[in-house]
Amino acid sequence: MTAAYRAARILTMDPGCPEIVDGCILVDGGRIVAVVPWKEASGPCRDLGDVTLVPGLINAHAHLELSHLAGRFSVGMGFEAWADGLFAALRDQRVSRADVAGAVAAARNSGTCFVADVVGREAVMVRGVLEAEGMGGHLFREVSGRRGLPDFTSADWPGPWSPSVHALYSTAPDLAREAKGWCVSRDLPFSLHLAEAPGENELFLGRGGAFAEFVRARHILPKGFVSPGMSAVAYASELGLLDGRTLAVHCVHIDADDIGILARSGAGVCLCPRSNSRIGVGEASVAALRAAGVPVCLGTDSLASNTDLDLWEELRAVKTVLSSSTPLVELLAMVTLNPAEILGIDGEYGSLQAGRRAAWAILPQDFAA
Ligand SMILES: [Zn+2]
Repeated sequence: MTAAYRAARILTMDPGCPEIVDGCILVDGGRIVAVVPWKEASGPCRDLGDVTLVPGLINAHAHLELSHLAGRFSVGMGFEAWADGLFAALRDQRVSRADVAGAVAAARNSGTCFVADVVGREAVMVRGVLEAEGMGGHLFREVSGRRGLPDFTSADWPGPWSPSVHALYSTAPDLAREAKGWCVSRDLPFSLHLAEAPGENELFLGRGGAFAEFVRARHILPKGFVSPGMSAVAYASELGLLDGRTLAVHCVHIDADDIGILARSGAGVCLCPRSNSRIGVGEASVAALRAAGVPVCLGTDSLASNTDLDLWEELRAVKTVLSSSTPLVELLAMVTLNPAEILGIDGEYGSLQAGRRAAWAILPQDFAA
């Protein structure tokens, strides 16, 4: 049976019909049948009132299995101290299903309908929570170190997933290529943390420094590591990791050459501005990335480095550093269309049009003004 939902304004993110004033979304079986002007609809409807509906938001980078670490770390610790604190906390305490369920429910209540989540050992639990809470998700099963890919064929993991690489300072190049190749051969998305920490570029350029000493001392750096003599972004490109199905996460420490590489590759860059600020690793060049045509996405990262998983707060952080004339639809694309295309879920999420899932969010007043 078709249900109808009326709203004062609907921003569909469908280029063919981007905005409907006094609109109506017709839904059947959890899918959108049509988005039409109210006067064209008929039958009973639920009037949502004087609100603007937008597509449900997509969080392009989170770690739900760190949800028990909310409030554990102080602000501005710097990457190395924060990472040491994280390792200690993970030795101390294991996440519970209730921790993850609470984080997912709060994210859903703030308008998120889909999360690209990096998982280690809690994949089955995280997937179970996502299903129970009615949240869509793609799980990135993170690999690092020197060994080859795990035997994924023997596992029966529910829902969409693919391997991701932790970072190029923690993963041997052969394993990184193997993980990306696994995704390419199955037309699945891939992800890696890239150019997040100050000193990452110096490590790859062979210049040493505090970060290089940190990853060596903690045995994070794979044995036999050889500096490639180029930046982190150039190294990712050299390894064939960047294309239109890759989410390069963070990209804080990049220069004009790196931005050119990212733009030519078609890769999406997932910025996590509040996590970067909270840890104290710097601020990504969102304006320069956008100017180069890089599809920018947004992620919250985890509750170990953020106060909540509210994507509107992430978008507010980005909005403050962009021109005030930046169109609303371009801001919204960072949490709807852009991640939907890179994750390969644009037939399901990212816009409000016939055939997509009936998942929407209400635009906060400060964005509507
Ligand atoms: Zn992360």
